[in-house]
Amino acid sequence: MGPERFFAPPLALEDLPDLDGVIISHDHYDHLDYPTVRRMRDLDVPWIVPLGVGAHLERWGLPRERIVELDWWESTRVKDLTITCTPARHFSGRAVLFTDQNATLWAGWALNGPTHRVFYSGDTAMQDEFIEIGEKLGPFDLTLIESGAYNALWADVHLGPEQAVRAHQLVRGRVMLPVHWGLFNLALHGWTEPIERILAAAKLAGVKVVMPPPGGTVEPETAGEVTPWWPTRPWETGAAAPVQSSAVDHLMADETLSKLKPINTHESTDS
Ligand SMILES: [Zn+2]
Repeated sequence: MGPERFFAPPLALEDLPDLDGVIISHDHYDHLDYPTVRRMRDLDVPWIVPLGVGAHLERWGLPRERIVELDWWESTRVKDLTITCTPARHFSGRAVLFTDQNATLWAGWALNGPTHRVFYSGDTAMQDEFIEIGEKLGPFDLTLIESGAYNALWADVHLGPEQAVRAHQLVRGRVMLPVHWGLFNLALHGWTEPIERILAAAKLAGVKVVMPPPGGTVEPETAGEVTPWWPTRPWETGAAAPVQSSAVDHLMADETLSKLKPINTHESTDS
């Protein structure tokens, strides 16, 4: 059961390099895969998860002492990285009959190291908290923002491409890596549409995007223009099929970015 992948994993699980930890955004099936967890549970690494998600992991055989459960704005350290759980606007649940709806927390993550900072949005719609995330934990050298699996009816649980670019700007991102697109067939939009719309919106906004091919590597700071590795397919523009989360029109307004408070760059104690 479940949606099909558009392409096979570029790397087998056992071929991954040594891991320092595993970070989970929420308990939806496309983010928390039972067979994968079972195959990784003997690795001697911490699993860093939002509140409640640890119960799934314990039931699946992970020892309690390797699970770090965090609420929004709580942090933990793994080696020299400070990992902070950040708010997101989404939902959770795995039960077919929705009996566990929103029983566990969903989140994004900020990874702040000695020289670089990375922000991962998790699954989320547009939210005021992006400004606070940028003020408290940014600016970020790289953002991984969810950009696919959208439609007008899901606008309060997913960003869609145009809002994803704005989210990158609100958290003070330097380079954006669009994620959560082109892997599973989860929505009705064409599979290349998210990245086409991201590139169009990013060009208008003056945002730098990196998009390595699956399994490829990229150096965000020195990467050049995105070279499409996906096929050319028809796609609907943001104007033709808009995705606008409710109650956050002010975040998309032209003057929003110029009103962001200036913040110190890379001077806090953990940078
Ligand atoms: Zn989700």
